[in-house]
Amino acid sequence: STPVHPGTTSTRILPPGLPEHLDVPAVDVGAVLRGAARRYGEHTAFHQDGAEITYAALLAEAAQVAHGLRAQGIVPGDVVAVHMPNCLDYPAVYYGILMAGAVFSPTNPLLPPAELAFQLRDSAAVAVVTWGAASGVLAAVREQVPARLVVTVDASLPDSLTLAELRAGQPSTAPDGRPQPGELAHLAYTGGTTGRSKGVRLTHRHVVTNVVQSACWTSGSTAGLDAEGDLLLDQVGSAQEWPTRLGTGVSVTITPWFHAMGVIGYLNVPVLTGYTCVIHQRFDPGAYLADVERFGATMIGGAPPVFVALLRHPDAATRDLSTVLGLSSGAAPLPVTVIEALRVRFPDAVIGEGYGLTEVTMVATMNPSWRSGVRKVGTVGVPAHGTEVRLLDPYGAEVPTGGRGEVYLRGPQVMEGYHERPDATAEVLVDGWLRTGDVGVLDADGYLSIVDRAKDMLLYKGYNVFPRELEEILHTHPGVAGAAVVGRPDEEAGELPVAFVALVPGAEVTAEGLREHVNAQVVHYKKLREVHLVDAIPVSAAGKVLRRELRDGLTAHT
Ligand code: AMP
Repeated sequence: STPVHPGTTSTRILPPGLPEHLDVPAVDVGAVLRGAARRYGEHTAFHQDGAEITYAALLAEAAQVAHGLRAQGIVPGDVVAVHMPNCLDYPAVYYGILMAGAVFSPTNPLLPPAELAFQLRDSAAVAVVTWGAASGVLAAVREQVPARLVVTVDASLPDSLTLAELRAGQPSTAPDGRPQPGELAHLAYTGGTTGRSKGVRLTHRHVVTNVVQSACWTSGSTAGLDAEGDLLLDQVGSAQEWPTRLGTGVSVTITPWFHAMGVIGYLNVPVLTGYTCVIHQRFDPGAYLADVERFGATMIGGAPPVFVALLRHPDAATRDLSTVLGLSSGAAPLPVTVIEALRVRFPDAVIGEGYGLTEVTMVATMNPSWRSGVRKVGTVGVPAHGTEVRLLDPYGAEVPTGGRGEVYLRGPQVMEGYHERPDATAEVLVDGWLRTGDVGVLDADGYLSIVDRAKDMLLYKGYNVFPRELEEILHTHPGVAGAAVVGRPDEEAGELPVAFVALVPGAEVTAEGLREHVNAQVVHYKKLREVHLVDAIPVSAAGKVLRRELRDGLTAHT
């Protein structure tokens, strides 16, 4: 196993009871599920619309998927794409692929045909698991992609197998021939910091490391191996400190598993810590709140738009949400006003925010999730065990405490590189450090704040304008439900700050009123030139504002 030390730039107080060095066993990702099935056997792992699967049954199904894939000629190292939304069959498909020694490459089921075809060709996926409505898109591009095996869930296509057929007659015991920790596990597509979609290469070691870093942090545990050589957490932190107790957590899961935060934070971490996850395929805030009450959820997690929508729903005031002990946000900035509203609604819950990117498997920094830990609102916390953060100016010099710089990360969860993109890899992996493209600030205690993404920064007559600062100010207005600032190209100034705002229903404020609200509080070069009221701010399934869509829309708002 590899000892992972606490982040060196941080002078943080260590999680009480946790060792300074976190041991991460050198095992395959299948060890997460095999260990959990041994420990939590008859406990419900996943639930969806009245159907459920226990940990023991999940392992049995995943084993059948693995044997079924091998029977179809899938060999270690083959890439298997998973083209489906979160559903009850997804976890067995995921672990089955990995236990077969194949590589999991998820795709957003809503990708348009051309992007799906690009990704399936780029990854050279030999098999695709597709689902229901999404399978039509796959059928449309099938001639253009190399996949020779198609497996369908809740659908049928010509020349394909159903998941039930793939599993039929296969043994339900985990296959032999476990992948080595250094073998490829995930090929995860992301826009990255620039340009077109690229495959991030993550090995079993990367995945297990980031799952352990995150699970131990949030549950107060250390990681080791059981007698069979599978992952075993040992809870060393006290119940007073850590609201999350192994084998007792319940969450309602909305975070897509085709994205880094979903597959690590809301699939592997819950399995390792013995959660029961209630799957919601589509986000409906009212239905979500109803299930939090019905299942007594202990944890709510997701991207910022989820929290904004939950708080705004009328049932948020009337549902019994007293079982919720932890709230966890990531993937995009959580406005400070939203954190304050969450504190009022969930006075007993620990509210944590973390930061990461697909290139670091999922997470690099986290706010403390133990009660006595100092959570600094507006920051993304301190480096995870084994992780270092450094801020550099455009000339490559280290920025002093409190100064702004580009965030560089180093740690055992940093990717191997982009799939078959040596140039793109060389641009972001510099002397062992990952260049994130995010602009940050470190305080004297080692807490990181993300100011913005470098590529979202506007340049007004040479001055830097960070959209996030203006968005935070917009959010302080009670009438604002969502806000995004982009630049309008301007010959004279370079770029002019322009805001798109979605109002709370019934809010009595005009675009001009909002412009004055912001401009009264900022220096001249940051002043908003235009405010456009829109029905909703467009966000991706992973919860990120689709700025390009807004910029493209600017021509319509002249
Ligand atoms: P992805 O690889 O799709 O997960 O996107 C990673 C990017 O999301 C990062 O480079 C950041 O720009 C942004 N991001 C993730 N977490 C946070 C956070 N807590 N606060 C601000 N930005 C974040």
